[in-house]
Amino acid sequence: MTGCAGMNTMQLGGQMMDGHPRDFVGYADKPPHPDWPGGARVAINFVVNYEEGSEYSIGDGDGRSETALTEVSAARVPAGERDLASESMYEYGTRVGFWRIARLFADRGIAATAFGCAVALERNPPAAEFMARHGWDVCCHGWRWVEHYKLSEDEEREHIRLAVESIQRTMGERPVGWYCRYAPSTATRRLLVEEGGFLYDSDSYNDELPYWTMVAGRRHLIVPYSLVTNDVKLTSGLFTGDDFYVLLKNAFDVLYEEGAVAPKMMSVGLHPRLIGHPARLSGLQKFVDYVVSKPDVWACRRADIARHWIARHPA
Ligand SMILES: [Zn+2]
Repeated sequence: MTGCAGMNTMQLGGQMMDGHPRDFVGYADKPPHPDWPGGARVAINFVVNYEEGSEYSIGDGDGRSETALTEVSAARVPAGERDLASESMYEYGTRVGFWRIARLFADRGIAATAFGCAVALERNPPAAEFMARHGWDVCCHGWRWVEHYKLSEDEEREHIRLAVESIQRTMGERPVGWYCRYAPSTATRRLLVEEGGFLYDSDSYNDELPYWTMVAGRRHLIVPYSLVTNDVKLTSGLFTGDDFYVLLKNAFDVLYEEGAVAPKMMSVGLHPRLIGHPARLSGLQKFVDYVVSKPDVWACRRADIARHWIARHPA
C-alpha cells in the first residue's frame, strides 16, 4: 500500500506541473455562486467554431485532405489526393452557413464567440469584419485546425505565436482565450501561460463553472467547454434540427431550474458547415428564441465570462 501511494504522489506531482491535475472532486456539492451580472440564473455562450480554410489540405502542403465533420462518415478519395467533395463541404461553411448563423445572432442582438483558427479568419475578410463589427470575441482555435497533441513543443510554440500575430492583424485585437482542436498537448497550457497574453483557456470538459489551476507556478483560468451541447452531435447520433433543439432545451431547462440557487454557465458549440444548413438551422433558431424569451439569462461572450470570474472570483 505504501509503495502504491508513493507512486501516485509522484505521478500527481508530474501532472500538477502542466496545469492538468487529475481532480475528481472539483467544486463538489459546494460550487461558488458565480454572481453573474443582473443576477442571471444561466450564463449562456454561443460558440461558432470558425475552422474552414485552416483544415488539412493538399494545397497547403499537408499531403492530405481533411474530411472530419462533413456529411460523409469516412474518407472516400485515396489519402494523399485532393478530396474535392470534402473541400467544397468546408467552403459551404464559410460561403453560406456562416452568414445564416451570423444573421440569426445579429437579429436577436446576441454577440457570439468565434473559436477562430487564424488562417481561416485570414481567408474570409468579410466574415472577420462581420464578427468585429458585431462585437464577437475570438477565442483562438489554433493557427491551423490541427491537433496540438501531434506537434512538438517547438512547433506548438510557433503555432501559438503565429496565431496571436495573425488574429491581432485580422481582427484588430489579440485573442485572450485559447481552445485546441479536441485536446491540448501536455505542453499547451504552459506555453499559453509563457506567451503571457491569455486570460484563459477552454481545453477542458470537466465542469460547468470556470476554475483556477496552477501552471508553472502561476495561476491560470479555465473556462470549460462542452461537446454535448454541440452540433457535432448532428454527425454522430442526432439527425434533425428539432433533435438538436430538444437536446439544447433540455440542458438549458435543468440549468435554469438549478440556477435559482446555484447558477452555472452553458456553452453551445456550433459549426457553420453543420448547423448552417437550412435543414438544421431551425433547431438553433427555436432554441435562441426560447432563451431570449426567458428572464434572468446572461447571453454573453466567452471573454466576458473570463473577465467576470477574474474580477469576482480572483484566485
Ligand atoms: Zn472546433
